[in-house]
Amino acid sequence: MTILRLALPTPLRRLFDYLPPQQIDPAALLPGIRVQVPFQRRTLIGVLVSVEKSSSLPYEKLKRADLIIDDVPILTSEIDKLCLWASDYYHCSLGEVYASAMPTQLRKGILPPEPVVEKAGDGETAALSLNSHQQLAVEAICAAHGHFQAFLLEGVTGSGKTEVYLRAIDDMLSRGKQALVLVPEISLTPQTIARFKRRFSVQVVALHSGLSEKQRLQGWVDAKSGTAKIVIGTRSAIFTSMPQLGLIIVDEEHDQSFKQQDRFRYHARDLAIMRASMNQMPVVLGSATPSLESLLNVERQRYTYLDLPERAGGASMPAYEMIDLKSSPVTDGLSDKMIAMMRSHLAQGNQVMLFINRRGFAPVLYCTQCAWTSECKRCDARMVYHNKPPRLHCHHCDARKAVPVRCEQCQQASLEPIGIGTQRLEENLTTLFPEIPIIRVDRDSTRRKGSMQKLLDQVHEQKPAILLGTQMLAKGHHFPQVTLVGIIDIDGGLFSADFRAAEQMGQLLMQVSGRAGREEKAGTVMLQTHHPDHPLLQTLIQHGYQAFARQLLVERHQAMLPPYSHFAIFRAEAHAEKKAVDFLAMIKEWCDKQDDTISALGPVPALMQKRKGMHCQHLLLRADRRGNLQQLIKNILDKLEASTASQPVKWVLDVDPVEV
Ligand code: ADP
Ligand code: ZN
Ligand code: ZN
Repeated sequence: MTILRLALPTPLRRLFDYLPPQQIDPAALLPGIRVQVPFQRRTLIGVLVSVEKSSSLPYEKLKRADLIIDDVPILTSEIDKLCLWASDYYHCSLGEVYASAMPTQLRKGILPPEPVVEKAGDGETAALSLNSHQQLAVEAICAAHGHFQAFLLEGVTGSGKTEVYLRAIDDMLSRGKQALVLVPEISLTPQTIARFKRRFSVQVVALHSGLSEKQRLQGWVDAKSGTAKIVIGTRSAIFTSMPQLGLIIVDEEHDQSFKQQDRFRYHARDLAIMRASMNQMPVVLGSATPSLESLLNVERQRYTYLDLPERAGGASMPAYEMIDLKSSPVTDGLSDKMIAMMRSHLAQGNQVMLFINRRGFAPVLYCTQCAWTSECKRCDARMVYHNKPPRLHCHHCDARKAVPVRCEQCQQASLEPIGIGTQRLEENLTTLFPEIPIIRVDRDSTRRKGSMQKLLDQVHEQKPAILLGTQMLAKGHHFPQVTLVGIIDIDGGLFSADFRAAEQMGQLLMQVSGRAGREEKAGTVMLQTHHPDHPLLQTLIQHGYQAFARQLLVERHQAMLPPYSHFAIFRAEAHAEKKAVDFLAMIKEWCDKQDDTISALGPVPALMQKRKGMHCQHLLLRADRRGNLQQLIKNILDKLEASTASQPVKWVLDVDPVEV
């Protein structure tokens, strides 16, 4: 008997046995090929894991596969190994891991096209002559070719990290190797891609969500065949097969977008380290604001530290100024000091950038008569008031409705928008600065294809202008004319229940500030805050990110929080809160019985307790040793899956969560 053992894209963490299609040559049954099978009432595309002689199921129960899709394995053994490791580490079914590792069209069963030798980059720009710090960094990375070594490249924004990447890649290309560059979604801009294509005369492939499914598949094929030498991509590009891969780079390694937040919850940075170590190659994590995880790995001498302490090409770091909102008068979100400073910078022919992390017009609509607010019915959140086009919009469940003219509770026409979002700030600025173009960049103004580019083109006209936007504006862009960055409000990060909030606030603040004075012109950052004396804020501004991160690491150590301990979270959702609580309480009991080195904390309501009409509860598992935690989780999952009764809740497990 010939049995096909398959990994199928379902959450069940097990393999499935099928009979091969009729009249199939057994020699065609190579592990790694795709197979189409009937599953419940659907058709699924799975991956062949092994061919067996027997099954634990009786013969009559075995279904027959519909179709063998490939004649050669779709994933190289290198990627296969990475997938197996990830499936085990994140406790995610192998089928779902494989599905994430494939471009969408392959997941749908389409056959890969032939590789094309696409027009290569033009390689017209010459390499810059490196400064001594860059030189040291490049030498260290190149010397690591052919064996595993992890580097943390810490360099302030504009210090020339990209130039280091380009040189190291150049060296790999000359050895006949390929290079993989991972970047956060938000910074994979046409400019980034163009910079690589201008530099190298080899084929460069970009893999990101802006491409059609067909383009992504072609890029994937070209990388796998080796015709493409450089792949630049977002998170999932870590799974690109590259037979001559010699170097992995993770730019902005601290960025949260490297962690996938649904189904297969992997962290692409951590997988990059794993892939490099499995295949003996250097990996470079670059950032102006490294994660605490990576800094600790440097301290523990797992990573080699490289730094670029100065801005390249003579640009200097910006100066900071704080505005105490408790004592400064504010008009429509802007303090008088800020407005005066903006005027002076604009009068000198420069550009100003304002950062506010809230899109829409106002975060809430409020009744001045009865204190009603525009709450979302399905979430523990307020519906944001937008005026272009007018609507109330929940940013959590996407619910929308028309803006009420009268209060829903007392029926009076006494509704007022409270607080400031990007649209309202834009309106205020138009009144304050009627002669200056205002360029707003947020998710609403950039929804249409090409609209982001149009906005950026306007900025690059280099005339006086005010740019205003959310963190979309903060990352990666190079705006040489911006000399003043104004931060409207950053206090949220200082007092959040999420222990990572301060770290993220500091990273964001540094990124935003990094937009000021990127070239000859010196930059200033003005920060509006209610807490100018907050010790973390003080450290950050007076002593820089390094000192700030050290201080945070001490706090994390004292509290035994990651990276000094390891977290995993069970999240449960149900219509009835009690069901979610009971389910997690049961898991907690198992934990307490099994392993006293692991603390199970909770169940507690999620930060947003109700979301999309469901009640969310968390159970947090904390362990000093990763191995113990992994074993405990395995036991729990085995138990859950062994019980035949279907669970009354929807639950997920998140290993190394980035949001707690
Ligand atoms: P980062 O990636 O650290 O933000 P980039 O590599 O983009 O920095 O460099 C910032 C600016 O400095 C770019 O305009 C780049 O061309 C320039 N630059 C980088 N290295 C050098 C160098 N060695 N000499 C002169 N200019 C440099
Ligand atoms: Zn909602
Ligand atoms: Zn009212």
